Amino acid sequence: MTAIPMLNLTRQFSGIKREVMEEIERVFDSQKFILGDNVHAFEQELARYLGSGYAVGVSSGTDALLVSLMALGVGPGDEVIVPAFTFFATAGTVARLGAVPVFADIEPDTFNISVTSVREKVTSKTRAIIPVHLYGQCADMDALSDVAREYHLVIVEDACQAIGARFGGRAAGTMGELGAFSFFPTKNLGAAGDAGLVTAQDDHLAKRLSDLRVHGMRPRYYHSEIGGNFRLDDVQAAVLRVKLRHLDEWNKKRRAIADRYRELLSDTEKRGRIALPREKEGRFHVYHQFVVRVQNRDAVREKMSKEGIGTEIYYPVPLHLQECFAALGVRHGDLPESEKAALEVLALPVWPEMTPEEIAEVAEALTATLG
Ligand SMILES: *Cc1c(COP(=O)(O)O)cnc(C)c1O
Repeated sequence: MTAIPMLNLTRQFSGIKREVMEEIERVFDSQKFILGDNVHAFEQELARYLGSGYAVGVSSGTDALLVSLMALGVGPGDEVIVPAFTFFATAGTVARLGAVPVFADIEPDTFNISVTSVREKVTSKTRAIIPVHLYGQCADMDALSDVAREYHLVIVEDACQAIGARFGGRAAGTMGELGAFSFFPTKNLGAAGDAGLVTAQDDHLAKRLSDLRVHGMRPRYYHSEIGGNFRLDDVQAAVLRVKLRHLDEWNKKRRAIADRYRELLSDTEKRGRIALPREKEGRFHVYHQFVVRVQNRDAVREKMSKEGIGTEIYYPVPLHLQECFAALGVRHGDLPESEKAALEVLALPVWPEMTPEEIAEVAEALTATLG
């Protein structure tokens, strides 16, 4: 038995090292590090890849969410509906702008925002909804679009975990007014540091995003509004352009690993020891994470770790129970599905370069642990 880490990026890098290093060298030779040719080229290539009208490269996924909300004018007095079960940035960016994150519960089968819960949270102050395509599977964008239309709300998709995922014929990040992407190194498309991007379908919004990315400046040194430094580095864009060419192949491998896990763990599921992730009809899941539900999760994780197998918990505390949001007054028991998920979820290794033996070893260790 060999140790299997939750994620191993070195195997992927060894396959593309030459291509990546050549492009990095080119950027260094040009000495154009900020908003250079690679940023513009990457924006165009990604917009084409997704079928998005516009794409604006930014400094991180968090800044992609922040600048999206800024472009929409979200601020004090506004409410933004977000799922309680997601990475912190989805709600943190809302609060940083002086608006109120309103937590909705999730669907137990997909872990994504529950449309029924969203409907219950809409008030006269609601401005926007941020559905998160958690673990790489799209939220129910048809039903959410209906709610948005009915109450005149905008949708900012948090597609940070879902690059390449599809809902029907449409790509994650192209269905709302704006879509936020992260290229944090561990994401399905990872940079060599922090990087992100916002997709837009409306030229006015796209222009606002590119102005806000450089301190709300247009023309140079004239500021009609207050933005920030949310720029994407040219070195990151150069790396991302190389990796984008491999993304579909990597996502395909993630899907194949998920299929294999399902086969290997189906008996354990039949015995009721585990709940495997569901891929809903018409949704192309890109398995940023392969997340199962188990009872006594922490003990299971501990045992797996003793076997040398890395697992992770995304996420152990739902956002409405985070200390920093205590003042919002949402209590334990208010969002039961989010709270239950936080206790049960366990993410298994699902990186594209895993060998069939490694996949089998993870499944065997889990089966042995669960009995
Ligand atoms: C990774 C992630 C972010 C933040 O992205 P960074 O690039 O780390 O700032 C936001 N939302 C979700 C759901 C994420 O997974």
